[in-house]
Amino acid sequence: MSVCLLCPRKCEVDRSRGELGFCRVGNAMRVSRYSLHMWEEPPVSAERGSGTIFFAGCNLRCEFCQNMSISHGGNLGKEVSVDGLCDIMLELEDMGAENINLVTPTHFSDKIALTLEKIKDKLTIPVVYNSSGYESVESLSRLEGLVDVYLPDYKYFSCDLAKKYSSAPNYREIAEAAILEMYRQAGSAVLDERGVIRKGLIVRHLILPSHRHDSMEIVKRLSSLLPKKDFFVSLMSQYTPDFAIEANSPHKELHRRLTSFEYSSVVDLAASLGLSGFCQDRSSAVASFTPDFNQK
Ligand code: SF4
Repeated sequence: MSVCLLCPRKCEVDRSRGELGFCRVGNAMRVSRYSLHMWEEPPVSAERGSGTIFFAGCNLRCEFCQNMSISHGGNLGKEVSVDGLCDIMLELEDMGAENINLVTPTHFSDKIALTLEKIKDKLTIPVVYNSSGYESVESLSRLEGLVDVYLPDYKYFSCDLAKKYSSAPNYREIAEAAILEMYRQAGSAVLDERGVIRKGLIVRHLILPSHRHDSMEIVKRLSSLLPKKDFFVSLMSQYTPDFAIEANSPHKELHRRLTSFEYSSVVDLAASLGLSGFCQDRSSAVASFTPDFNQK
């Protein structure tokens, strides 16, 4: 019996025997969608689009998830082997992808490491690891030399919010340790002559309605956690309440969009602290920016 300790949940279930842990998916990798995606940060999507591969299931399962249909177990996608994932990566590269962008990969990181060990030398584009930040340093260490760009979230500063929305009261300490390990591996960010990221770290934060003070604490923390010139911060305003309302979320404070004041107060603080990075046009806070996971 081999129990799953792949992420900080440490569920100790045997996924190879069909037991399900917090991420609600078995041992085999499952992909819900892969495509060229134009709505990542400018150095990630660039001119031709990012080669996104969306994995089904999630080890964080936030109450306000914008990809709820795949992360909470509605659409579990298709089973994909290590060789099958290699083929998908090569197909995306042939389609012109600027990079291979592994979205919500944490609960399959062992198989992803095996895949990248087979395919990394054949790829001419960078590999991006796009995660919730709720990662174990031990699992991340298996990806050293295989991932070029880390794109983690830093979702919560408050333990209470992390517990309320993601059942992860230790989120902050886990995410900070993960971000430090990602920085250790990827080093300072490097862009090519077209402004496309080749290696480095972009830390994302989605600002939630009613919680701008938590976002401001995160921005302050990031300004002292790593050398500011070495990484980017991406402040996202794209939260849409559609999914929370559809799911009858009891969190009434999330049943609205972010205001301009809430967003700009966080962006202004980041700028005043000397952080570099990206902000969003608030017109992005619509459901059409969420990929259609039913598309074939
Ligand atoms: S990967 Fe899934 S089963 Fe394994 S410890 Fe994390 S949440 Fe639990």
